[in-house]
Amino acid sequence: MIRAAVAVAALALLFAAEASTAGEKAAVSWHPSKPRVGDVAWILVKDVAEAATVEGSVDGKPMTFFPYGGGHAALFGIDLDMKPGTHAWRVGVVEPGREPRIAQGSVKIVRRDFHVERLTVPNTMVDLDPETERRAVAESKQMATLYRTITPERLWRGKFTNPLGTTAAGGGFGARRIINGQPRSPHSGSDYSAPRGTPVLAVNAGKVALVAEFFFPGRLVILDHGLGLYTAYFHLDTIAVAEGERVERGQTLGTVGATGRATGPHLHFGAQVAGARVDPTTLLGLSLLD
Ligand SMILES: [Zn+2]
Repeated sequence: MIRAAVAVAALALLFAAEASTAGEKAAVSWHPSKPRVGDVAWILVKDVAEAATVEGSVDGKPMTFFPYGGGHAALFGIDLDMKPGTHAWRVGVVEPGREPRIAQGSVKIVRRDFHVERLTVPNTMVDLDPETERRAVAESKQMATLYRTITPERLWRGKFTNPLGTTAAGGGFGARRIINGQPRSPHSGSDYSAPRGTPVLAVNAGKVALVAEFFFPGRLVILDHGLGLYTAYFHLDTIAVAEGERVERGQTLGTVGATGRATGPHLHFGAQVAGARVDPTTLLGLSLLD
Protein backbone atom coordinates (compact mmCIF):
# COMPACT_ATOMS: atom_id res chain seq x y z
CA MET A 1 0.00 0.00 0.00
CA ILE A 2 2.67 2.48 1.14
CA ARG A 3 5.02 1.54 -1.68
CA ALA A 4 2.21 2.01 -4.20
CA ALA A 5 1.41 5.44 -2.74
CA VAL A 6 5.09 6.46 -2.95
CA ALA A 7 5.24 5.22 -6.55
CA VAL A 8 2.12 7.15 -7.48
CA ALA A 9 3.56 10.32 -5.91
CA ALA A 10 6.81 9.77 -7.83
CA LEU A 11 4.81 9.40 -11.05
CA ALA A 12 2.92 12.61 -10.37
CA LEU A 13 6.29 14.39 -10.01
CA LEU A 14 7.52 12.79 -13.22
CA PHE A 15 4.45 13.93 -15.12
CA ALA A 16 4.84 17.44 -13.73
CA ALA A 17 8.37 17.59 -15.18
CA GLU A 18 9.05 18.05 -18.90
CA ALA A 19 9.77 14.78 -20.66
CA SER A 20 13.24 16.03 -21.57
CA THR A 21 14.20 16.44 -17.92
CA ALA A 22 13.13 12.90 -17.00
CA GLY A 23 15.91 10.33 -17.36
CA GLU A 24 15.47 7.15 -19.30
CA LYS A 25 12.46 6.76 -21.60
CA ALA A 26 9.98 3.90 -21.48
CA ALA A 27 9.53 1.99 -24.76
CA VAL A 28 5.86 1.99 -25.72
CA SER A 29 3.97 0.46 -28.65
CA TRP A 30 0.32 0.64 -29.71
CA HIS A 31 -1.66 -2.32 -31.09
CA PRO A 32 -2.98 -1.82 -33.69
CA SER A 33 -0.64 1.08 -34.46
CA LYS A 34 -3.54 3.10 -35.93
CA PRO A 35 -6.67 2.03 -34.06
CA ARG A 36 -10.13 2.95 -35.33
CA VAL A 37 -13.00 4.59 -33.46
CA GLY A 38 -14.74 1.79 -31.53
CA ASP A 39 -11.69 -0.48 -31.36
CA VAL A 40 -10.34 -2.17 -28.26
CA ALA A 41 -6.69 -1.17 -28.65
CA TRP A 42 -3.85 -2.04 -26.30
CA ILE A 43 -0.61 -0.46 -25.33
CA LEU A 44 2.58 -2.31 -24.35
CA VAL A 45 5.31 -0.82 -22.16
CA LYS A 46 8.34 -3.02 -22.82
CA ASP A 47 11.03 -4.19 -20.41
CA VAL A 48 9.28 -3.57 -17.10
CA ALA A 49 9.55 -5.85 -14.04
CA GLU A 50 6.37 -7.47 -12.77
CA ALA A 51 6.71 -5.57 -9.47
CA ALA A 52 6.84 -2.15 -11.17
CA THR A 53 4.09 0.45 -10.94
CA VAL A 54 2.96 1.58 -14.38
CA GLU A 55 0.49 4.37 -14.96
CA GLY A 56 -0.68 5.93 -18.15
CA SER A 57 -3.45 7.87 -19.81
CA VAL A 58 -4.82 8.98 -23.16
CA ASP A 59 -6.30 12.50 -23.19
CA GLY A 60 -6.12 12.30 -19.38
CA LYS A 61 -8.24 9.13 -19.28
CA PRO A 62 -6.33 6.58 -17.18
CA MET A 63 -5.49 3.06 -18.35
CA THR A 64 -5.08 0.09 -16.01
CA PHE A 65 -1.88 -1.91 -16.60
CA PHE A 66 -1.05 -5.55 -15.91
CA PRO A 67 2.16 -7.57 -16.37
CA TYR A 68 2.36 -9.00 -19.90
CA GLY A 69 5.08 -10.28 -22.22
CA GLY A 70 8.07 -9.07 -20.20
CA GLY A 71 6.48 -5.66 -19.75
CA HIS A 72 3.12 -4.21 -18.77
CA ALA A 73 0.07 -3.85 -21.03
CA ALA A 74 -3.27 -2.08 -20.80
CA LEU A 75 -6.42 -2.13 -22.89
CA PHE A 76 -7.66 1.19 -24.20
CA GLY A 77 -11.23 1.44 -25.43
CA ILE A 78 -11.90 4.01 -28.14
CA ASP A 79 -15.44 5.16 -27.44
CA LEU A 80 -17.78 5.30 -30.42
CA ASP A 81 -18.03 9.08 -29.95
CA MET A 82 -14.27 9.70 -29.60
CA LYS A 83 -13.03 12.15 -32.24
CA PRO A 84 -10.79 10.70 -34.96
CA GLY A 85 -7.33 12.29 -35.23
CA THR A 86 -4.33 12.69 -32.97
CA HIS A 87 -4.64 12.05 -29.23
CA ALA A 88 -1.90 12.51 -26.63
CA TRP A 89 -0.83 9.66 -24.36
CA ARG A 90 1.69 9.38 -21.56
CA VAL A 91 3.13 6.56 -19.50
CA GLY A 92 5.22 6.53 -16.34
CA VAL A 93 7.10 3.60 -14.82
CA VAL A 94 8.43 3.39 -11.27
CA GLU A 95 10.45 0.27 -10.71
CA PRO A 96 12.53 -0.83 -7.72
CA GLY A 97 16.27 -0.34 -8.33
CA ARG A 98 15.84 1.68 -11.53
CA GLU A 99 15.47 5.31 -12.54
CA PRO A 100 11.81 6.24 -13.01
CA ARG A 101 10.91 6.34 -16.67
CA ILE A 102 8.38 8.35 -18.58
CA ALA A 103 7.26 8.45 -22.18
CA GLN A 104 4.71 10.47 -24.05
CA GLY A 105 3.51 10.72 -27.58
CA SER A 106 0.41 10.63 -29.69
CA VAL A 107 -1.73 7.99 -31.28
CA LYS A 108 -3.70 8.52 -34.46
CA ILE A 109 -7.27 7.35 -34.19
CA VAL A 110 -8.73 6.48 -37.55
CA ARG A 111 -12.23 7.54 -38.43
CA ARG A 112 -14.90 4.93 -39.02
CA ASP A 113 -18.17 5.70 -40.72
CA PHE A 114 -21.23 4.26 -39.04
CA HIS A 115 -24.39 3.75 -41.00
CA VAL A 116 -27.75 5.21 -40.20
CA GLU A 117 -30.39 2.68 -39.20
CA ARG A 118 -34.12 3.36 -39.36
CA LEU A 119 -36.25 1.21 -37.11
CA THR A 120 -39.92 0.96 -36.41
CA VAL A 121 -40.97 -0.34 -33.01
CA PRO A 122 -44.26 -0.10 -31.10
CA ASN A 123 -44.80 3.50 -29.94
CA THR A 124 -44.97 2.31 -26.32
CA MET A 125 -41.24 1.50 -26.62
CA VAL A 126 -40.37 5.04 -27.74
CA ASP A 127 -42.88 7.46 -26.21
CA LEU A 128 -42.48 6.45 -22.59
CA ASP A 129 -44.84 7.48 -19.82
CA PRO A 130 -43.04 9.45 -17.07
CA GLU A 131 -42.77 6.45 -14.74
CA THR A 132 -41.26 4.21 -17.42
CA GLU A 133 -38.96 7.05 -18.48
CA ARG A 134 -37.68 7.36 -14.88
CA ARG A 135 -37.19 3.59 -14.74
CA ALA A 136 -35.22 3.51 -18.00
CA VAL A 137 -33.02 6.45 -16.91
CA ALA A 138 -32.32 4.84 -13.50
CA GLU A 139 -31.44 1.53 -15.18
CA SER A 140 -29.06 3.15 -17.62
CA LYS A 141 -27.39 5.07 -14.74
CA GLN A 142 -27.00 1.82 -12.80
CA MET A 143 -25.21 0.24 -15.77
CA ALA A 144 -23.04 3.33 -16.35
CA THR A 145 -21.94 3.26 -12.69
CA LEU A 146 -21.10 -0.43 -12.98
CA TYR A 147 -19.07 0.13 -16.16
CA ARG A 148 -16.98 2.79 -14.42
CA THR A 149 -16.16 0.44 -11.53
CA ILE A 150 -12.68 -0.97 -12.03
CA THR A 151 -12.00 -4.19 -10.15
CA PRO A 152 -8.24 -4.55 -9.62
CA GLU A 153 -7.81 -8.16 -10.77
CA ARG A 154 -7.62 -9.31 -14.40
CA LEU A 155 -9.99 -12.29 -14.71
CA TRP A 156 -9.79 -12.85 -18.48
CA ARG A 157 -7.05 -14.84 -20.18
CA GLY A 158 -6.28 -15.70 -23.78
CA LYS A 159 -8.61 -15.55 -26.73
CA PHE A 160 -12.17 -14.18 -26.61
CA THR A 161 -14.75 -16.48 -28.20
CA ASN A 162 -17.90 -15.79 -30.16
CA PRO A 163 -20.91 -15.31 -27.80
CA LEU A 164 -22.98 -17.83 -29.77
CA GLY A 165 -20.13 -20.32 -30.16
CA THR A 166 -20.33 -20.00 -33.95
CA THR A 167 -18.51 -17.99 -36.60
CA ALA A 168 -21.62 -15.83 -37.09
CA ALA A 169 -20.75 -12.15 -37.33
CA GLY A 170 -22.59 -9.52 -35.34
CA GLY A 171 -23.40 -6.16 -36.82
CA GLY A 172 -24.78 -2.71 -36.34
CA PHE A 173 -22.22 -1.36 -33.86
CA GLY A 174 -22.22 2.45 -33.74
CA ALA A 175 -25.26 2.79 -36.01
CA ARG A 176 -26.89 6.18 -35.67
CA ARG A 177 -30.46 5.16 -34.98
CA ILE A 178 -33.65 6.78 -36.05
CA ILE A 179 -36.47 5.05 -34.24
CA ASN A 180 -40.01 5.78 -35.44
CA GLY A 181 -38.62 8.89 -37.13
CA GLN A 182 -36.80 10.24 -34.04
CA PRO A 183 -32.97 10.31 -33.71
CA ARG A 184 -31.84 8.22 -30.70
CA SER A 185 -28.51 7.39 -29.08
CA PRO A 186 -26.12 5.35 -31.24
CA HIS A 187 -26.18 1.56 -31.04
CA SER A 188 -23.48 0.65 -28.53
CA GLY A 189 -23.34 -3.09 -29.20
CA SER A 190 -23.35 -5.65 -31.94
CA ASP A 191 -26.48 -7.66 -32.81
CA TYR A 192 -26.39 -11.37 -33.61
CA SER A 193 -29.56 -12.85 -35.02
CA ALA A 194 -30.31 -16.36 -33.80
CA PRO A 195 -33.39 -18.41 -33.01
CA ARG A 196 -34.93 -18.09 -29.57
CA GLY A 197 -33.35 -20.61 -27.20
CA THR A 198 -29.86 -20.54 -28.76
CA PRO A 199 -27.29 -20.77 -25.92
CA VAL A 200 -25.41 -17.54 -25.16
CA LEU A 201 -21.83 -18.05 -23.97
CA ALA A 202 -19.38 -16.07 -21.85
CA VAL A 203 -16.76 -14.72 -24.28
CA ASN A 204 -14.03 -15.01 -21.64
CA ALA A 205 -13.61 -15.73 -17.94
CA GLY A 206 -15.10 -13.25 -15.52
CA LYS A 207 -17.54 -12.63 -12.75
CA VAL A 208 -21.29 -12.10 -13.16
CA ALA A 209 -21.64 -8.43 -12.19
CA LEU A 210 -25.34 -7.95 -12.96
CA VAL A 211 -28.39 -10.09 -13.70
CA ALA A 212 -31.53 -8.03 -14.25
CA GLU A 213 -34.65 -7.43 -16.29
CA PHE A 214 -34.45 -3.85 -17.58
CA PHE A 215 -36.86 -1.93 -19.81
CA PHE A 216 -34.77 -1.58 -22.99
CA PRO A 217 -32.20 -4.41 -22.62
CA GLY A 218 -34.77 -6.92 -21.31
CA ARG A 219 -33.28 -9.87 -19.43
CA LEU A 220 -29.57 -9.24 -19.23
CA VAL A 221 -26.27 -10.50 -17.93
CA ILE A 222 -23.20 -8.26 -17.53
CA LEU A 223 -19.80 -9.88 -16.95
CA ASP A 224 -16.91 -8.12 -15.23
CA HIS A 225 -13.62 -9.37 -16.70
CA GLY A 226 -11.58 -7.13 -14.37
CA LEU A 227 -9.45 -3.99 -14.90
CA GLY A 228 -12.42 -2.10 -16.35
CA LEU A 229 -13.45 -4.57 -19.08
CA TYR A 230 -17.13 -5.59 -19.15
CA THR A 231 -19.22 -7.56 -21.65
CA ALA A 232 -23.03 -7.39 -21.82
CA TYR A 233 -25.65 -9.81 -23.16
CA PHE A 234 -29.17 -8.36 -23.70
CA HIS A 235 -32.69 -9.50 -24.69
CA LEU A 236 -32.16 -12.99 -23.19
CA ASP A 237 -35.05 -15.43 -22.96
CA THR A 238 -33.61 -17.33 -19.98
CA ILE A 239 -30.65 -16.77 -17.63
CA ALA A 240 -28.50 -19.60 -16.27
CA VAL A 241 -26.13 -17.71 -13.94
CA ALA A 242 -26.40 -15.69 -10.74
CA GLU A 243 -24.78 -12.42 -9.64
CA GLY A 244 -21.38 -12.91 -8.04
CA GLU A 245 -20.76 -16.24 -9.79
CA ARG A 246 -17.40 -16.81 -11.51
CA VAL A 247 -17.74 -18.04 -15.08
CA GLU A 248 -15.31 -19.63 -17.50
CA ARG A 249 -14.91 -18.81 -21.16
CA GLY A 250 -17.60 -20.68 -23.14
CA GLN A 251 -19.89 -21.19 -20.15
CA THR A 252 -23.62 -20.85 -20.93
CA LEU A 253 -25.06 -17.62 -19.51
CA GLY A 254 -28.59 -18.08 -20.83
CA THR A 255 -30.46 -18.25 -24.12
CA VAL A 256 -31.32 -15.87 -26.96
CA GLY A 257 -34.69 -14.16 -26.67
CA ALA A 258 -36.55 -10.99 -27.58
CA THR A 259 -37.11 -9.42 -24.15
CA GLY A 260 -36.97 -5.63 -23.75
CA ARG A 261 -36.95 -3.43 -26.87
CA ALA A 262 -36.26 -6.01 -29.58
CA THR A 263 -37.81 -6.41 -33.00
CA GLY A 264 -37.27 -10.19 -32.84
CA PRO A 265 -35.06 -12.84 -31.20
CA HIS A 266 -31.40 -11.77 -31.28
CA LEU A 267 -28.43 -11.31 -28.98
CA HIS A 268 -27.27 -7.77 -28.31
CA PHE A 269 -23.60 -8.18 -27.34
CA GLY A 270 -21.84 -5.15 -25.89
CA ALA A 271 -18.45 -4.33 -24.38
CA GLN A 272 -17.00 -1.43 -22.42
CA VAL A 273 -13.46 -0.60 -21.34
CA ALA A 274 -13.35 1.90 -18.45
CA GLY A 275 -16.71 3.27 -19.57
CA ALA A 276 -15.78 3.55 -23.28
CA ARG A 277 -18.38 1.92 -25.54
CA VAL A 278 -16.42 -0.28 -27.91
CA ASP A 279 -17.23 -2.64 -30.76
CA PRO A 280 -17.34 -6.00 -28.94
CA THR A 281 -16.42 -7.86 -32.12
CA THR A 282 -12.95 -6.24 -31.97
CA LEU A 283 -12.40 -8.14 -28.69
CA LEU A 284 -12.75 -11.39 -30.65
CA GLY A 285 -9.73 -10.47 -32.77
CA LEU A 286 -7.63 -9.02 -29.93
CA SER A 287 -3.96 -9.77 -30.59
CA LEU A 288 -3.03 -9.66 -26.89
CA LEU A 289 -2.92 -13.35 -26.01
CA ASP A 290 -1.69 -15.12 -22.89
ZN1 LIG B 1 -28.55 -4.22 -30.15
